[in-house]
Amino acid sequence: MSDGHSASVDVLVIGAGGCGLTAALAAQEAGVDVAILEKAGSLGGNTALSSGSIPAAPTRFQACAGVEDSVALFAGDLRAAAGSHDADPLVDILAETSGALIDFLVDCGVTLDLITTYKHVGHTTCRLHAPPSRKGVDLLDDLAAAVRERDIPLALGHPATGLIEVQGRIAGALAGDDRIEAGAVILACNGFGAASGLLADYCPSVAEATYAGSPDSTGDAIAWGRDIGAATGNMAAYQGHAALSVKNGALMTWTLIERGGFVVDRHGRRFGDETLGYSGFADLELAAAGPFHIIYDAPIRDDVAAGQPQFAEACAFGAAETASDIRQLAARLDLPEDALAATVDDSRRAARGNRCDRFGRTDWGHGPLGDPLCATQIEPALFHTQGGLKIDTSARVLDTDDRPIPGLYAGGGAAMGISGRSGGSGYMSGNGLLSALGLGLIAGRAAARERYH
Ligand SMILES: Cc1cc2nc3c(=O)[nH]c(=O)nc-3n(C[C@H](O)[C@H](O)[C@H](O)COP(=O)(O)OP(=O)(O)OC[C@H]3O[C@@H](n4cnc5c(N)ncnc54)[C@H](O)[C@@H]3O)c2cc1C
Repeated sequence: MSDGHSASVDVLVIGAGGCGLTAALAAQEAGVDVAILEKAGSLGGNTALSSGSIPAAPTRFQACAGVEDSVALFAGDLRAAAGSHDADPLVDILAETSGALIDFLVDCGVTLDLITTYKHVGHTTCRLHAPPSRKGVDLLDDLAAAVRERDIPLALGHPATGLIEVQGRIAGALAGDDRIEAGAVILACNGFGAASGLLADYCPSVAEATYAGSPDSTGDAIAWGRDIGAATGNMAAYQGHAALSVKNGALMTWTLIERGGFVVDRHGRRFGDETLGYSGFADLELAAAGPFHIIYDAPIRDDVAAGQPQFAEACAFGAAETASDIRQLAARLDLPEDALAATVDDSRRAARGNRCDRFGRTDWGHGPLGDPLCATQIEPALFHTQGGLKIDTSARVLDTDDRPIPGLYAGGGAAMGISGRSGGSGYMSGNGLLSALGLGLIAGRAAARERYH
């Protein structure tokens, strides 16, 4: 596409992350012409930064591994984590679609397997599926290869700059001087994690935190949606992460906690129940006094490194301190020795069941920490926003009277998420990609159907 041209397509997808690529593949499979506009000069977005974990149930992988799961159990877990929120009907449709989503991805050539070495907080069974590398960039590469194989036009370095509205119907989009007319438009350009003004308005508690997501999540879908009277939902919700390594910016897996580790503040004391999950615990860190450290032991370090290559890489770059005793650990971390010793002692007694944990933690993974002890300095971060355009169960964008805006669909970070109304505690591992890929599949198929009628 060059400056000043106009083109026409059945379905136009804006954004080439996990949501957009899945939507394009689904729409083309349903028999319509599709094209994708991507702002960045190369593929990336949050999907590439993620660990690629997609929750789904029941799936062929679970059946092979003998894991019993169901749509009802999955939807129940999602609701238990998030409570009531604006997107409740999406919970069921996403849980129902998740098994078919995994089949669709595998049939498109995406390599996935079931993660059986950890579940992450909130999931009552093993249902996270990911590329063998546990890197979202591999998921994105596989989706992009499928798009290329199917000759779906993908214009890199072509940001959409606005929507074309004709008599109340969305009829395409502008990309600078280019005009692309379309029977339907799918907004797959993520949320507003990189838009400081929107963050300050909707998620003030996390607005100053380190942002670990894509710089291209600038909230374009929200701005365009508002201009045409679209409603929004769950705008104050987000995915935080409590454990970004200060040493090298690597994501420290919460499995360290799930196996029995815990987090201390600048005083060497715990300040909450870590089993709240990495996203919810980030809220506690944001309100507490850092620096923060995860304390775990060498068996946990070795066990987790064996199953999670990214953690092994972080260890190789020195993210894990190991100390022979509390005195050495306290000195290395510059924490008060007495307080740290008391915290470790308390945690061991709680893990043995000899005393109740003052924060109510009951799950201590593999039991009390042994020696030698390990530690990693961490900081809380914002990964992505979970609020967005209000959609129905066909991913159609709704106006403030809950009526679909003809021709307009949204998914992934552009749409409202299923992680609660506000804060990070409603986010369950995988909610981001479930909304991105699941709603991509739903939106692609629905937009193709709309084109035919
Ligand atoms: C470090 C990290 C780890 C994560 N790990 C996980 C995980 O394991 N599991 C999980 O479920 N979620 C995870 N998430 C969240 C998950 O990555 C996102 O929720 C998901 O990738 C969103 O997909 P998307 O397609 O909506 O957005 P993206 O993948 O960000 O794609 C959006 C695309 O739209 C483009 N774009 C933006 N504006 C425009 C415009 N105006 N015109 C054209 N293109 C535009 C962007 O450049 C981008 O390429 C993680 C996030 C981070 C940051």
